[in-house]
Amino acid sequence: MTNVESFTLDHTKVKAPFVRKAGVEERSGVRVTKFDLRFLQPNKEEMPTGAVHTLEHFVAGFMRDKLDGVIDISPMGCRTGFYMVTWGEPAVKDVIEALNYSLEKVLEQEEVPAANKLQCGNYRDHSLEDAKKYARQILNKGISDKIYG
Ligand SMILES: [Zn+2]
Repeated sequence: MTNVESFTLDHTKVKAPFVRKAGVEERSGVRVTKFDLRFLQPNKEEMPTGAVHTLEHFVAGFMRDKLDGVIDISPMGCRTGFYMVTWGEPAVKDVIEALNYSLEKVLEQEEVPAANKLQCGNYRDHSLEDAKKYARQILNKGISDKIYG
């Protein structure tokens, strides 16, 4: 099997929440960076699907408001965080700043964007309440730029 970068991370040693530069790739002079936006402690906690799905809808917009060159932000299958892929190589501290902004914005929301059967693949599986709960929890803990705390 091809080496997968995230499988080389020792998930027992990290201390969430954190932002980690997971990889940088360059083809034909164009650079793309992948980030690990880790919200919860691996193998200790995970977000319910409604929370992670609602946060996905929110951060898709809010992160792009603050950070240039976002290509994609997708939930991790383990539901402990998100992967983000960007053009170029943004600094981790700028990603954290954008993430703090995004989570603060989540706390102000009254409605989940694009939560309808036209724009979403599972529009019934959303929880604004849980999304706010996790946003608050992560902001209270503080997002670190160091993966080992
Ligand atoms: Zn959706």
